[in-house]
Amino acid sequence: GAKSYSFMLRTKNPCGKVSNVLYLVMDDLADQFGIGTLRLTTRQTFQLHGVLKKDMKTVMSTIIRNMGSTLGACGDLNRNVLAPPAPLARKDYLVAQETAENIAALLTPQSGFYYDVWVDGERIMTAEPPEVVKARNDNSYGTNFPDSPEPIYGTQFLPRKFKIAVTVPGDNSVDILTNDIGVVVVSDDNGEPQGFNLYVGGGMGRTHRIESTFPRLAEPLGYVPKEDILYAVKAIVVTQRENGRRDDRKYSRMKYLISSWGIEKFRSVVEQYYGKKFEPFRELPEWEFKSFLGWHEQGDGSLFCGLHVDNGRIKGTMKKTLREVIEKYNLNVRITANQNLILCDIQHAWKRPIITMLAQGGLLEPRYVDPLNITAMACPALPMCPLAITEAERGIPDILKRVRAVFEKVGLKYNESIVIRVTGCPNGCARPYMAELGLVGDGPNSYQIWLGGMPNQTTLAKCFLNKVKLQELEKALEPLFYHWKRNREAKESFGEFTNRLGFEKLQEWINKWEGI
Ligand code: SF4
Repeated sequence: GAKSYSFMLRTKNPCGKVSNVLYLVMDDLADQFGIGTLRLTTRQTFQLHGVLKKDMKTVMSTIIRNMGSTLGACGDLNRNVLAPPAPLARKDYLVAQETAENIAALLTPQSGFYYDVWVDGERIMTAEPPEVVKARNDNSYGTNFPDSPEPIYGTQFLPRKFKIAVTVPGDNSVDILTNDIGVVVVSDDNGEPQGFNLYVGGGMGRTHRIESTFPRLAEPLGYVPKEDILYAVKAIVVTQRENGRRDDRKYSRMKYLISSWGIEKFRSVVEQYYGKKFEPFRELPEWEFKSFLGWHEQGDGSLFCGLHVDNGRIKGTMKKTLREVIEKYNLNVRITANQNLILCDIQHAWKRPIITMLAQGGLLEPRYVDPLNITAMACPALPMCPLAITEAERGIPDILKRVRAVFEKVGLKYNESIVIRVTGCPNGCARPYMAELGLVGDGPNSYQIWLGGMPNQTTLAKCFLNKVKLQELEKALEPLFYHWKRNREAKESFGEFTNRLGFEKLQEWINKWEGI
């Protein structure tokens, strides 16, 4: 069938940055060679589904020639580097974004193979900052393969995919603790960025019925001064390259290495490649989820506008309208880690006409989108993903409607919301283990229910129920939401509530439930 020879292609866009030209090219390619839709991913990239093998070279060379890249979007190496996508003219945001781009460049494969295959050897590259080249080639502490075209990766690359996110204090729009490395800009009292806190060892993927696989939160490693960040990141990557398990892919993510060594040993090995001691982790304020939806001042005289895209799937009238707006006003855009789109650099005078165009195209202002929908995410699952056990993207609209209906039934108001994430398998691409209600496919039309994540993505959920049939979801949800409504403390989120009460109590309510 079509499945065996059609491909999924993923771009690489550090910070989710997409130039005006690249957006228009991707929009065209989706129509010409894909299935007519563009998908925004949870790692701030595009996915193009349904590209035929015979068209692959045309599609790839078009992307590369328009300064896009797919290099390092797949495989056992560093994936797209996340950073808050807001185009704010603030020093910390700018440093976070610049750092994300530099880390992405540092860990991009160096051999010409990619360009040989897709653009006949023509090297189309943007100039790299000299500090990136210097850090990549530095071998002071024996980190490199000096004779290899890949000084950091060598011929074996990494044991497994590797994920990095950068952010600023308080802004958890990037799910910072789910990454192999989380980097946080630390500024002095005058707002001047001085260095970075580093978290290590986060990751979502697990395997059903194998308890030794698990999602894990990243934990503090330490602080590095600004000028050392690329060397510190490289030292961590090299530690995983040298010590991560290569005998069993189930255990090859860095989280398992840190879990088995403990953070103290991990830190001391990284310090040998870094050549210095880490300074103590600096204190940080509470994390907050930021959606960046709606209209905002950039701080440089222009505006930006965050648009909600259901499951990141841009299609139909929405796709046509977005293209018209982006083309007409020559806008750059950014993809958020929640699969939404930000239109950047909008002059005040354009705001009215843009609002009119968006409304005509059915792109709603955030206040007209169900609050449940604003924080919900689903992975592509069936029919796109070969690992899918059951539905996610196609199923979530109905699931959200049913949750809203239960909310109404138990008397929860329209402005009440919880973070719901659905995936078609335990790999967890939509980060369900951070949700207040995570549904993880474990059979045809059947899901595990995970509870206990927080609205700001700072705790791990735990598996509450297995093999819940999709049609029986209400049996579990009705009693839980009913008791949340009645027994919650002031402003207590659903995640805090389920954590406080504990699974035993929740189970008891379900067992005793006789309806309202
Ligand atoms: Fe595929 Fe599983 Fe990832 Fe969903 S979570 S996209 S089903 S691998």
